[in-house]
Amino acid sequence: MPEHAEFRALYLSEIGVHTPLPVNSADSSNKSSNEIRPEGATVVPSPLSSRSGPVSLSATSTADTAVDGNGLDDIAIQASSCTACQLSEQRTKVVFGVGNPEADIVFIGEAPGRDEDMKGEPFVGRAGQLLDRMLVTLGMNRSEVYIMNTVKCRPPNNRDPRPGEVEACSRWFDAQLRELSPKIICLLGRVSAQTVLETDKPLSVLRRNWHDYHGIPVQVMYHPAYLLRSPQQKRHAWSDLCELKRRYGSLSS
Ligand code: SF4
Repeated sequence: MPEHAEFRALYLSEIGVHTPLPVNSADSSNKSSNEIRPEGATVVPSPLSSRSGPVSLSATSTADTAVDGNGLDDIAIQASSCTACQLSEQRTKVVFGVGNPEADIVFIGEAPGRDEDMKGEPFVGRAGQLLDRMLVTLGMNRSEVYIMNTVKCRPPNNRDPRPGEVEACSRWFDAQLRELSPKIICLLGRVSAQTVLETDKPLSVLRRNWHDYHGIPVQVMYHPAYLLRSPQQKRHAWSDLCELKRRYGSLSS
């Protein structure tokens, strides 16, 4: 098993960065690149946050669909037999989530792909391997964070989840986040970001600011699958990771 430093070097090599880049909070905040958000960057409130106040994470589930679960495992068991939308018809497995239920950071993608549908775990395959390498640059591994999707079953042909499917699955999403109660949410990719933040702004704009989801700071990053298709964007992903590491480091300071 390679050490963290080796993984970091591998990632930097892959994205074409050949000069050392800072990874600790102090260094990253001094970085001159305009890809790093400045201290005190604008927090854009989520439209969901203004629905009512104070807002709980269950605010997006309607009363008749809200999940009454006894912990994360119980909610996952309930979700495993869900047939609330048409995505249940072609799925192999419900992909609920994976990782540490006590994690401070939760990563959220859009929906399972083929590999995830087969294995029942989010972010496997090449995109998952890249996410693992990105985590290592943060000094973490998969067992220290929690990884999930907005929608728990695979859309056919990997199409985007439809609004009705997102709404149907929000019962699990809300219950899951309520149990996890993370300190930071990281939204991976356009679909996840636009769905959770209820916006049609492009990802290139969304990733430049911190957002808010019911009081939880939210960062938006490129999806690892997109980074595999567009390796030139990995440099931007690096600056996002530095910012995430800075914010994560500030949790304990
Ligand atoms: S996508 Fe969500 S709501 Fe639809 S069947 Fe799967 S678990 Fe149920």
